[in-house]
Amino acid sequence: ENKDQKFVYDFTEGNKDLKDLLGGKGANLAEMTNLGLPVPPGFTITTEACKVYLESGDEPAELRDEVSAHLDALEQKMGKKLGQADNPLLVSVRSGAKFSMPGMMDTVLNIGLSDESVAGLAQQAGDERFAWDSYRRLIQMFGKTVLGVDGELFEDALEEAKAAKKVTVDTDLDAADLKKLVKQFKKIVKTEAGRDFPQDPREQMDLAICSVFESWNTDRAKLYRRQERIPGDLGTAVNICSMVFGNLGPDSGTGVAFTRDPASGHQGVYGDYLQNAQGEDVVAGIRNTVPLADLESIDKKSYDQLMQIMETLENHYKDLCDIEFTIERGQLWMLQTRVGKRTAGAAFRIATQLVDQGLIDEAEALQRVNGAQLAQLMFPRFDDRAKTELLGRGIAASPGAAVGKAVFDSYTAVKWSRSGEKVILIRRETNPDDLDGMIAAEGILTSRGGKTSHAAVVARGMGKTCVCGAEELEVDTKRRRMTVNGTVIEEGDLVSVDGSTGKVYKGEVPVVPSPVVEYFEGRMHAGADDADELVQAVHRIMAYADRVRRLRVRANADNAEDALRARRFGAQGIGLCRTEHMFLGERREMVEKLILADTDDEREEALRALLPQQKQDFVELFEAMDGLPVTVRLLDPPLHEFLPDITELSVRVALAEARKDHNENDLRLLQAVHRLHEQNPMLGLRGVRLGLVIPGLFTMQVRAIAEAAAQRIEAKGDPRAEIMIPLVGTVQELEIVREEAEQVIAEVRQQTGIDLKLALGTMIELPRAALTAGQIAEAAEFFSFGTNDLTQTVWGFSRDDVEASFFTAYLEKGIFGVSPFETIDKDGVGSLVRNAVEAGRATRPDLKLGVCGEHGGDPESVHFFHEVGLDYVSCSPFRIPVARLEAGRAAA
Ligand code: ADP
Ligand code: MG
Ligand code: MG
Repeated sequence: ENKDQKFVYDFTEGNKDLKDLLGGKGANLAEMTNLGLPVPPGFTITTEACKVYLESGDEPAELRDEVSAHLDALEQKMGKKLGQADNPLLVSVRSGAKFSMPGMMDTVLNIGLSDESVAGLAQQAGDERFAWDSYRRLIQMFGKTVLGVDGELFEDALEEAKAAKKVTVDTDLDAADLKKLVKQFKKIVKTEAGRDFPQDPREQMDLAICSVFESWNTDRAKLYRRQERIPGDLGTAVNICSMVFGNLGPDSGTGVAFTRDPASGHQGVYGDYLQNAQGEDVVAGIRNTVPLADLESIDKKSYDQLMQIMETLENHYKDLCDIEFTIERGQLWMLQTRVGKRTAGAAFRIATQLVDQGLIDEAEALQRVNGAQLAQLMFPRFDDRAKTELLGRGIAASPGAAVGKAVFDSYTAVKWSRSGEKVILIRRETNPDDLDGMIAAEGILTSRGGKTSHAAVVARGMGKTCVCGAEELEVDTKRRRMTVNGTVIEEGDLVSVDGSTGKVYKGEVPVVPSPVVEYFEGRMHAGADDADELVQAVHRIMAYADRVRRLRVRANADNAEDALRARRFGAQGIGLCRTEHMFLGERREMVEKLILADTDDEREEALRALLPQQKQDFVELFEAMDGLPVTVRLLDPPLHEFLPDITELSVRVALAEARKDHNENDLRLLQAVHRLHEQNPMLGLRGVRLGLVIPGLFTMQVRAIAEAAAQRIEAKGDPRAEIMIPLVGTVQELEIVREEAEQVIAEVRQQTGIDLKLALGTMIELPRAALTAGQIAEAAEFFSFGTNDLTQTVWGFSRDDVEASFFTAYLEKGIFGVSPFETIDKDGVGSLVRNAVEAGRATRPDLKLGVCGEHGGDPESVHFFHEVGLDYVSCSPFRIPVARLEAGRAAA
């Protein structure tokens, strides 16, 4: 261990770049302190201290002393002592990890209050009600967070106190009521936690610190991290911040604000404010907040100062910031800031706005958006022209068009979605316990809370559709229904939620493509006067990405239609044309003939019949991709995939026998099915092995490609065909196929008199191929990494089985953070790719290198392929914009 490791930093010592050590909140509190903004003094305990605590189960020895030293200094600065009877210093103990985890970790306010110091606080503030209100809050938060008491018990007691007095809001309770409530709260603590509420202020603080450390490992924190792919070993920092009070009367209050609208990106005054309130009141939806703009008339001085600070922060962070602030008797205090979460559309708009304002350059703009956001913008939207039945309207908190069955609790949301139902989770408001329900739902709908409520913040983070604060909805969770302006929606009824407009509809509203897709399809032009602002921003960002990226982006496409769409989306060729798709449908019978052929003649006849069909496919494809490379993969799957299902066929044959009605063809088919049956077909007779075992199959395909290319050249086209051999494990396999292919190509050259140039290469999708890539490159002009099969064979995972069987358990246990079929496993599969790239290029410096697995359209994997030096990635047409953007981000 590092001897002079420092576990505590004063706010004046840190800065925004120390997020690893001080957490996001601590680093930014320090940054604001150093910018000269009004931040209540305090200090931060590092994530390192948390890690030591979590590993050893105890505070590091030096921590207590360091905290004492910093506390002394704080007390000196503030001129009062923690919990001192006559003039108490109070602090908050606040969690704050590197990545913001809304609502995941707990904060305790008013630490330092006790039966003694509550009187001191009353005197200090000249307000007895306030002091008792603060005390009851402390016991409530401390009881719940630190001592693990069920929070509802306090809530219920508070509700009862209000009901007994026939009032509805907390502020109508007076000092005497609150005094009684404190007594009750203490009793709850005693019964539930089996101990008294601690009266020693330092004990309160130390217990709260440890409880923040421990909150790193609560189930909901773990679930959130898994969902957001945040590593589990970062730990949280703890901030000790001297208290300021928003609950000191009408000239006090607390609020949250954004420097721009996180939904649209527009500049303006966005936020919520609540008078005479403390802490979480504003986000918990306990009382109704007012729009931030109203603060101007409530307290003009604080409002103007806040606007000034927001501008300072935007210019300093050069980005949208969100802010938590408190006003104590007309004095403004900044309690938190961070670069704010935003919707996908706002991310694109803000990035281009900041370029226009000269705050960031194009390369930086590319870092402000990502492929996942772009993918989200390509989701369909509700059709405006559809006939709809509007139920109500709330705040558009997170965009998207979600349709599903209404459910009113998270348990049902999870259960139904597991059985394949699409659900909309409807709640009065959400809290961290709803997280798994929110993940399971298509969309989230709440009747309370604003843009900064739990539902809104978490949904935006997850990219999930959310409408919140739809006040007309009367949500009745107990009876599992809601009533809206007289209409009753029962559990299971379909509802449609529009997170872009805040509208909620009864039934299923049809969806239409997003304007971003319309733009990529060429049906909407970014330059047009009425072009959507979003489309313009996407257009500009894509242009930046295309300008800087080194990776080329191709499409996986098997027919001309997909190829044309891919081209519109910016594909620079086809990286994978799967020929097996050309053998399905009506042609299945021809393939059956091939498989059933007993003699050379029968087989050759079957192949002859397939040839013109194949050729026509390729002519169309080469025409669609004229001038761009088209990689055609020769037949890959096991042949049994073209035959009927073994059980169905057996039944058919048995039934026919029973009727004494013999069908010769079915009998032969059944024999073939038995003959071709394999225990592990994915490791069986497929890929290059088919080409070597079934004479004439690959040469027929090569001939079709060569003749199609020749025909296109005759038609003055520019076909750029590349022939790809799948599942090669050794260079010998490739050499044999290559020789036969070259012979066929030579024949076509001679027949047509056209000087055909066809590249021949291979997929690298078996570990042996990757390991012997240097040898294989002698017979291959290009490699295309088939990362799906490579992942299966490197891990020994069957992709078709494992995702449903044990991947969930693996993800839960943290064995991997994400399925290796989704994001490339850099350490294992990736290292084979890296080595094969080097070995291949060592043999053949101009070897062309690409990837054609699902990973080609996965953002993180695209960065990896950029880094290892591939020439291109290939992915499905819809992922092309994402791959272009990520390739640009990787290079910028
Ligand atoms: P979270 O991470 O959940 O946002 P915070 O640590 O920011 O938790 O605390 C929640 C709220 O508690 C803050 O927004 C602020 O309103 C209030 N709060 C925290 N510390 C103080 C303090 N020292 N003085 C006054 N209010 C505070
Ligand atoms: Mg919170
Ligand atoms: Mg906060």
